[in-house]
Amino acid sequence: MSEQKPQSYYDAIKRKFAEERDRRLAYRPDGTAQFTSDFEGALSRYAIDPFAGVSTPRAPIDDQVEVLIIGGGFSALLTSARLREKGIESIRIVERGGDVGGTWYWNRYPGVACDVLSYDYLPLLDEMDYMPGRQYARGPEIFAHCQAIAEKYGLYEKAIFNTTITSTTWNAEDQLWHLTSDRGDRMRAQFVICANGTLSKPKLPRISGMETFAGHSFHTSRWDYGYTGQSLEKLHDKVVGIIGTGATAVQAIPELGRAAKELFIFQRTPSSIDIREDGPTDPEWERSLGKGWQARRREETIANSEMPLLQRVLMGQVPTASAPVDDGSWALEQAKLAKMSREERLRIQENANIDYMMGIHRRIESIVKDQATADALKPWYMFMCKRPCFSDDYLPTFNRPNVHLIDTHGEGITLITPEGPRFRGVSYPVDLLIYATGFEVQKTGTYNRIVGRNGLDINDKYSTGIRTLFGIHSLGYPNLFVMGGYQASFQFNLTDMLQTQGDHIAECIDYVRRAGHRTIEPTEEAEEHWVQEVIRFRGKTSWNQDCTPGYYNFEGESNRRQDGNYNGTFRSYVQHMIAARARMAETYTLA
Ligand code: NDP
Repeated sequence: MSEQKPQSYYDAIKRKFAEERDRRLAYRPDGTAQFTSDFEGALSRYAIDPFAGVSTPRAPIDDQVEVLIIGGGFSALLTSARLREKGIESIRIVERGGDVGGTWYWNRYPGVACDVLSYDYLPLLDEMDYMPGRQYARGPEIFAHCQAIAEKYGLYEKAIFNTTITSTTWNAEDQLWHLTSDRGDRMRAQFVICANGTLSKPKLPRISGMETFAGHSFHTSRWDYGYTGQSLEKLHDKVVGIIGTGATAVQAIPELGRAAKELFIFQRTPSSIDIREDGPTDPEWERSLGKGWQARRREETIANSEMPLLQRVLMGQVPTASAPVDDGSWALEQAKLAKMSREERLRIQENANIDYMMGIHRRIESIVKDQATADALKPWYMFMCKRPCFSDDYLPTFNRPNVHLIDTHGEGITLITPEGPRFRGVSYPVDLLIYATGFEVQKTGTYNRIVGRNGLDINDKYSTGIRTLFGIHSLGYPNLFVMGGYQASFQFNLTDMLQTQGDHIAECIDYVRRAGHRTIEPTEEAEEHWVQEVIRFRGKTSWNQDCTPGYYNFEGESNRRQDGNYNGTFRSYVQHMIAARARMAETYTLA
């Protein structure tokens, strides 16, 4: 690992990490409140769906279904496919957008692709008999796969689009959820699945003067191809600004750099950029796979999930700038580590992490020609403090003469005038201003007020700390299931996690029906046990609490003890659910 360098080398870098974090925190002590996602008044245009076309008027729906799913992305598709396999037919998917696809419906920005290997990320490849064309699938291919799943499982006939559920209220009398929508619907359902996505509601930083900007602007998840042209050809004479340098911007910036007359990139904190090494699917490898290959691959992933992502990166299971091959050293290393004290183990892991990040720095040095720009692009934090990015095009973009990095040294843009962003007295006039500023994170009931058994809004229940079982069930909210929410397992490959949750939810609903019950709800003990599990593992993460602010750590807010993901392994998350299903009567109140 990292024994050659003196510990003082690592300690100095750790101090620099801490300084950068403190500086960034001092600029924005308001944490998550620095953003807004309730786009009203002058901001309401940022929420408009540019892809929906004209939505056809329809009469409000007033009826009852067995299972109502809020959202039409992978969560909904995977779960309803499973429900149909179990013979459950009374399903309705209610989707805000104009089609299925969720993330891949909304995110159509140029360069959009997935950082997870397509053979893992795209679900139901066995069932769909489909092989992705590339190692890393691009957005349109993933969107088309969502549509193909909906076709194959007959889910279009179960879906209504351009409809936002606005309230979900438990009715004790008829033991049903009563839902209202922005289309005047009044629907009732025995089971409700909140499949509204982990990162689905666009957010904007509250920047003084942003509503006065006189040029054109949009959020990356509402890309206006009418303005840019389908191949960005209309940008050739335009000055473009982009705020944010997260995973979205890292993919969009190379395309914008090629297309725009001038591109100004407003950076607050740089992302860590490792290599991508994409390529077409190897036909020989494809031929070597037997039937059911993806299911086998998934089983292996779950079995290997003891290995943290950093380790997988270091072993070359994820492409990196400096990945050694898996020569069995991880297992040896584990055996050695097991004999050490916790402090020693942490130190070794932290040093390996720092070595990795310094590799990221060296890669920048070797690609970006201008020294000041290269320095500004260096991330000063531990790996996984922020979402790691993988790109072979991003860093070379900064060598283009029309591309300008405006580094705000952790402060961020705080002022926008009618001409464009202004930073430390300098104005940057732009024709187009793009917000690559991310999304509300894992918010249960996005757009939707959920009121449970005791008239309690679920967000009020969570105001003193999130309380769930597996991130899926919550006491007081019978027959309600949440997908991709907090207290679920954190997985770089989200579809794996969603598939696991969808399988569990389908099993629960099937059990309730077959056993002749009407409701399922976690017991107080089961919920409390899970909250304690979440706390136990969150306490174990070494560097998260020292991280630079970002959405992974609630922008540095320190009072979020149980509000986060379950950090045990994915395997143990899966095993917990299997165990719960084997002891339904002890885990759940069934009535
Ligand atoms: P992020 O939340 O990751 O990034 C938002 C960016 O906006 C950050 O760089 C942030 O800086 C910056 N920002 C916020 N406020 C200001 C300000 N006032 N001035 C300047 N900059 C500001 O959003 P993304 O849309 O990039 O990504 C969200 C997530 O979506 C990813 O983390 C990933 O999980 C997923 N995704 C996955 C992709 C994939 O698989 N390839 C592709 C794209 C997205 P700071 O860091 O300082 O907060």
